[in-house]
Amino acid sequence: MLDLRHAKNITIIGGGTAGWFAALTLKRMFSDHVKVQVIESPSIGIVGVGEGGLINLVSALNSLNIPTSEFMRETGAAFKWGFCYEGWRTGEKEDEFYHLFINPKHEPFNHEAAAFLPLISALITQNIPLASAVKDFDVIRQRISQKDAIDVLQNDSGFATSFHFDSHKVASFLCKKAVERGVIHTQTKVHDIVFNAEGYAQQILTEQGPLKTDFIIDASGFSRLVIGKKLKSSWSSFKDYLWLDRAIPFHVSHHGKNPELVTRATAMKAGWMWQIPLVERIGAGYVFSSEFTTEDQAIDEIQQYFGFEIEPQKTLSFKPGHYKKVWQKNVMALGLASGFVEPLEATSIGQMLEQLRMFERVVTHSGWVVSDLSIEQYNQANTASWHGIRDFLRMHYDCPRQDTPFWQKVANTPYPESYAALKEVFMQRSPRMEDIKGYAQYGWNGIFHVVNWIFVAQALNLISKTGCAQELQILPIEQKKQIIAYIEVLSNF
Ligand SMILES: Cc1cc2nc3c(=O)[nH]c(=O)nc-3n(C[C@H](O)[C@H](O)[C@H](O)COP(=O)(O)OP(=O)(O)OC[C@H]3O[C@@H](n4cnc5c(N)ncnc54)[C@H](O)[C@@H]3O)c2cc1C
Repeated sequence: MLDLRHAKNITIIGGGTAGWFAALTLKRMFSDHVKVQVIESPSIGIVGVGEGGLINLVSALNSLNIPTSEFMRETGAAFKWGFCYEGWRTGEKEDEFYHLFINPKHEPFNHEAAAFLPLISALITQNIPLASAVKDFDVIRQRISQKDAIDVLQNDSGFATSFHFDSHKVASFLCKKAVERGVIHTQTKVHDIVFNAEGYAQQILTEQGPLKTDFIIDASGFSRLVIGKKLKSSWSSFKDYLWLDRAIPFHVSHHGKNPELVTRATAMKAGWMWQIPLVERIGAGYVFSSEFTTEDQAIDEIQQYFGFEIEPQKTLSFKPGHYKKVWQKNVMALGLASGFVEPLEATSIGQMLEQLRMFERVVTHSGWVVSDLSIEQYNQANTASWHGIRDFLRMHYDCPRQDTPFWQKVANTPYPESYAALKEVFMQRSPRMEDIKGYAQYGWNGIFHVVNWIFVAQALNLISKTGCAQELQILPIEQKKQIIAYIEVLSNF
């Protein structure tokens, strides 16, 4: 059991996006006499990538009472309405499909029948890309200005929004907000943690001396100080299903009048390249498998793509996976310290914010006295959420490319069991929320709705058109009429 009713010192190790979001959340959760302190090491710094959010970034800012307009102004942020995938089917630049953040109140997302989304199924039967049915989709292709994007959002838009942002500016901005709200900011290096005989952390040993603690959020990034190195929590590896392990980040200038409103993900010979358009620049990076290319070859490939030289930043290495028990007694790992898969679909900050939202919920709903069972269920739900991310990303690689040794390996690697089960049912009938409910347990929100899965699965031809048509045929006549009115060409079923 964890009793936080008399906690006096809450410590967050790490001052990256995860650490500062945690500080703001815990400051709000605990009363004013509790000291919430962030310790970060300026000599280590932050990872400095991770510049695209999901839609829960906006709800997290709202719940912390941080105006999104201020966030945008202070962090060089630009609107993000989803992703554009380039070259994932044929390898050609013209081969594009979209995964968009949608406003569910508009067609075709607002019609449900028999636990599936019939208008979307109708689009699938007719080979009409889901993106082209999203209200206002054209403005993405037109690459409207940020100012015009505000008008679209204020005018009953078809989109939900998130942001592209400068990660260093985000850390500084959240730090400023947290310090204004009373969080203590200490710049020093942590070198050890002292635990008592029952396994509860008691002291943090820093270069400036020891600090007492009642609870630690381990947001130490890839240092993975406490849950990883000190407590040696067991690691769940995804390397059999997701193969990328290196990233070369770099910046380029805008190659268009306005920043694109989506993250561009371009398939490459041994992985893929992200382009995240901010107001001032594009943050880019090639994330690849070190088994199939070298850093020099990767840089050559990037330069060939753009037709100019780039200035690569330090190469980052990572292993896809997560810790199984991120919360142990009075320590919880968050952000990169808890796990990381790869940057596809920008899941890391999204998962971190969901983990934090559920941490707050479990602690406050438990009246600050949390049972071991609740902590166990939290860890189980966190693992399920990571499995959802793993399977969603694995689906992106279930694409027709086999033109390089990397893509051949991808095509010949077995699926995770849970993804194989999903694929099997998508090949029989329309996808529905029921299929993915196992990824969101004990009150967690899944990182992705079934609509997100459909955007990608439809583009990669992973949903049976016949299966969808058969389901539409057995709907009551009135519903069929609605569908026919929505898509005239459906008159033959
Ligand atoms: C290639 C790549 C691309 C990514 N792209 C995306 C994306 O598009 N979208 C997304 O959501 N996420 C992305 N991520 C993940 C994203 O970068 C992180 O989720 C996010 O930045 C949060 O990082 P963090 O706060 O966990 O760690 P960091 O930002 O690395 O912060 C770690 C903190 O811990 C401190 N620290 C470490 N050791 C010590 C010590 N001994 N003593 C004191 N302090 C210490 C550091 O000084 C630092 O302040 C990407 C990651 C990578 C590697």
